[in-house]
Amino acid sequence: MELISKMSISECETLRGILFDIDDTFTSGGKILKDAYSALWDLHKAGLFLIPITGRPAGWCDHIARMWPVDGIVGENGAFYFYYNKKEGKLLHRYFFPPEEVAKKKKEIEAIKKEILRKIPRAGIATDQPYRLFDLAIDFSEDVSPLTEREIGQICNVFSKHGARYKISSIHVNGWFGDYDKLTMTRTFIKERLNMDKEEIDRKFLFIGDSPNDEPMFKAFLLSVGVANIKRFAPKMKFLPKYITSANGSLGFAEMARIIIDKTHKKGVENGD
Ligand SMILES: [Mg+2]
Repeated sequence: MELISKMSISECETLRGILFDIDDTFTSGGKILKDAYSALWDLHKAGLFLIPITGRPAGWCDHIARMWPVDGIVGENGAFYFYYNKKEGKLLHRYFFPPEEVAKKKKEIEAIKKEILRKIPRAGIATDQPYRLFDLAIDFSEDVSPLTEREIGQICNVFSKHGARYKISSIHVNGWFGDYDKLTMTRTFIKERLNMDKEEIDRKFLFIGDSPNDEPMFKAFLLSVGVANIKRFAPKMKFLPKYITSANGSLGFAEMARIIIDKTHKKGVENGD
């Protein structure tokens, strides 16, 4: 991983947009710092197509797609994307499969939930669970005291025993039934909205993240960045980002934005939208 300051002018100029993880990449200690939110506005004004890629729930994504300076959002680990269509004046939803399908697996999801809480009593159901449409999120360090690696492994084992997919973020283990993931839904979103093919997408979009659940994105996109806090996971990761910021979380995100804007001189215009 090279320092982000080494990113070349031509690399910066290739960029059509930025894909970014939220927790511990855009945030620090659970908050979006002023620098990061202001950097997001700067990138938006510079004309970059911005998409947060997250495991966070549909309820949050509704808010983010409407109110943040972004072009849409991929949520619940790739179960859907939402974007606000200015012309139609409404929020549009694109699901991998309709949310009603989840009802067919309700009993199984309930069984997984009970088994996890019985076997790993220190784990909790994520407090954002009521706002989810597709997956079950188990909290291991957001609102509960941090669990051990062994306990996190036990949670994953329950999901896989039941044939569910799962991903470990920096705070939750998310499990679901369905053949979707963040990378596939991200490519679908860009293809459908910008009419770009896979090769062009992987070359013209940069991804920034912080943890092992971002590895498929680091692998796929030619330009990828890790915020400095990725270092704690790096020894265990197979695919690392090309560049790394010198600051953690929110401040690392702002550092990346500043470098891209400076190297491309894309200051944008102050138009408030
Ligand atoms: Mg993260």
